Amino acid sequence: MDLVEVFSKFPTQADCIAHLEDARWGDKPICPFCGSDRVARKRENQRVGRWNCHCCHNSYNVLTGTIFKGTKVPLQKWFLGIEILLNAKKSVSSLQLADVLDLTPPTAWRMGRQIRKVIADNSVCLSGIVEADEASVTTAGTRKKDDEDPPRPGRGTR
Ligand SMILES: [Zn+2]
Repeated sequence: MDLVEVFSKFPTQADCIAHLEDARWGDKPICPFCGSDRVARKRENQRVGRWNCHCCHNSYNVLTGTIFKGTKVPLQKWFLGIEILLNAKKSVSSLQLADVLDLTPPTAWRMGRQIRKVIADNSVCLSGIVEADEASVTTAGTRKKDDEDPPRPGRGTR
């Protein structure tokens, strides 16, 4: 998959959520807190993708317990970031990521760090989002100086 495919396959936040729900749960959504399948989707006028557990009474969405949890960055940008980092032939700095995805450098740095960690752990949470080629996965765990510290916000903007 290339970036254009990611754009066209996941045009909205709801599409991204639907894809993650399918990849994570299939047709059997499970509560991430207690493991119960006695769950129900919240009504349409609630925030997209919210679920209620009738067992432990927690509310959650498919992002709970994943690298996307609590993110304010649109999921499409995450998917694009994953695609970029998985398939990059050379290492991608967080400043490049910030540039391409229109994020602040600290946000891009955090995103890159999270994605690289998941790639290094070979987590299933990426499966089905993008296909990785072998070469880029094996180099994805190497750390560059750029990734040691988050860039300072506002650096060089005055
Ligand atoms: Zn539960």
